Amino acid sequence: MQHRTMESYKIQLVAIVSLILVFPNTQGWGEDGHFIVCKIAQSRLSNSAAEAVKNLLPESAQNDLASLCLWPDEIKRDARYRWSATLHFADTPDSLCNFQYDSKSPYSFILMHSASNDPSGALSELGKTTQQFRDCKDLSTGEKGQCVVGAINNYTNQLLNYGSVTKYNLTEALLFLSHFVGDIHQPLHCGFVSDLGGNRVAVNWYNTVRNLHRVWDDDIIETAEERFYDSNRTEYINAIQQNITKAWADQVKGWENCSPNKIPCPDIYASESIEEACQWAYKGVSVNSNLQDEYFLTRLPIVTLRLAQGGVRLAATLNRIFGTQYSAAM
Ligand SMILES: [Zn+2]
Repeated sequence: MQHRTMESYKIQLVAIVSLILVFPNTQGWGEDGHFIVCKIAQSRLSNSAAEAVKNLLPESAQNDLASLCLWPDEIKRDARYRWSATLHFADTPDSLCNFQYDSKSPYSFILMHSASNDPSGALSELGKTTQQFRDCKDLSTGEKGQCVVGAINNYTNQLLNYGSVTKYNLTEALLFLSHFVGDIHQPLHCGFVSDLGGNRVAVNWYNTVRNLHRVWDDDIIETAEERFYDSNRTEYINAIQQNITKAWADQVKGWENCSPNKIPCPDIYASESIEEACQWAYKGVSVNSNLQDEYFLTRLPIVTLRLAQGGVRLAATLNRIFGTQYSAAM
């Protein structure tokens, strides 16, 4: 009987492992990346922000934001939340290493500027209809703002209603915002459109077949934890926290800063990500590249830096949201 139970357990296990291999998590920092960003962020909250986060988290989370930071990845394929799938990234046209939320296509630019020779206005009307939003849109519908940058702005605005009667679900807003501030710091979440931010670039990670996006979501982090931190995520987090207070201490203010009257600055984070995607993630990689120590050891510092910046900026954003809210209420 016991043997039989063991056998069925084994079969179940094989089935689960096979499912994991067939449907790898290929979007967003993986579990560890999001956990790390949220852990760092929660340790840096002001009193008023810490209080608000505690109030908004469900009881089951036991005031641990990190325990729920993967939630938006877990629900994005559910019918009820499928609309959120495009909010995890903001890909840019191939080989352009800069992010533009909203720009007119060169074609419409020419038409608009020929309007002075167009007394009837027909051309400038045509210019308007060919106007395209560049990097922050739903790629299938073209709807503006449907990207990680638009989502960070949107959920920040929702959370500003904290403390007053609102139609928004502010618990969901907090979890989405916390997740998306993590995602936007993963360079390949602002990668190129045609390869879906590296998802279509098959590579070998040591002896395993992967895609480049997954290498940046999970493999660099997991290999670092195994090799340098005793397979212990908390040790990696402690090392990052030490860097934030020591080696990077004089840069942290700069990471936290945003334009004077803005609460989040996702355009800045997306611009940095696409630059790093070009300079580090895509550089020297082609289909079936063998990525081993040379790639791992030169890219790990970028991954560690981005996790730190994600955590610091999520905290700064939440501190501004709930600080603003509190001072507005006074
Ligand atoms: Zn995500």
